Amino acid sequence: MTRSEMYTYFYSGDVALKLGVARELYVQFGNVLLQQPDILANLTIVEANERALQVQMRAMTMGATCTLCAIRQGGGCCSIFMAGENDVLQLLMNLLAGVQVVMQQDNQQECCFLGITGCILTMKPMFCLNYNCSHIKEKEVAVTLLHLEQRTAAMLVSQAGLETLLLDFFCENL
Ligand code: SF4
Ligand code: SF4
Repeated sequence: MTRSEMYTYFYSGDVALKLGVARELYVQFGNVLLQQPDILANLTIVEANERALQVQMRAMTMGATCTLCAIRQGGGCCSIFMAGENDVLQLLMNLLAGVQVVMQQDNQQECCFLGITGCILTMKPMFCLNYNCSHIKEKEVAVTLLHLEQRTAAMLVSQAGLETLLLDFFCENL
C-alpha cells in the first residue's frame, strides 16, 4: 500500500467504518506493535501526558462545567459531527492503550464516544483537545489557561509522535 492509499484508508469514511478498521488492525498487529520498543516508549509518554492533562482539568473542575453545559438546552460540544474527527490510527492507539473502544450510543446528536461520565477515549482528536469554550475561558485566570494549554500541547505532540511511528510501521507492513 502506498502512503497516499494509507492516508485514505486511515483518515476517510465514517466513524463506524474507521472503528472497524482500527479493530481489524488491532487484531492483526496489536501484539506485534506492543512489542516494538519505540512504540511502547511513546505509548507510555502519551499515557503520562494524558494523566497530567486530566489532573489539570480536574483542578479546573472542567468535568462539572461540561456536565452542567451538556444538560442545558442545545447540550455540550461533543456532537455527532465531532465524532467524525476520530481517525483509524487514533482509535487504534486507544485500543493499544487498553481502552475498550465501544460506541456508547447512536442517538444521532451526540458523539458516539460520549459515555455517562464523559469521553471514553484516552487519545482524542486534536479538535477535541484544543477546544476551550467561553464557559471555560471566562472562569479561569490566564495562568491556569496557560497550564491547560501547555498540558494539551504536550499531549498533542506525543500523540502525533506515536501516530508517525504507526504510519511508518504500516508503510512497511500493509
Ligand atoms: S467544552 Fe464548553 S461547550 Fe463543550 S461541554 Fe464543556 S463547557 Fe460545554
Ligand atoms: S471529546 Fe470524546 S466524546 Fe467528545 S467529541 Fe471528542 S471524541 Fe467525542
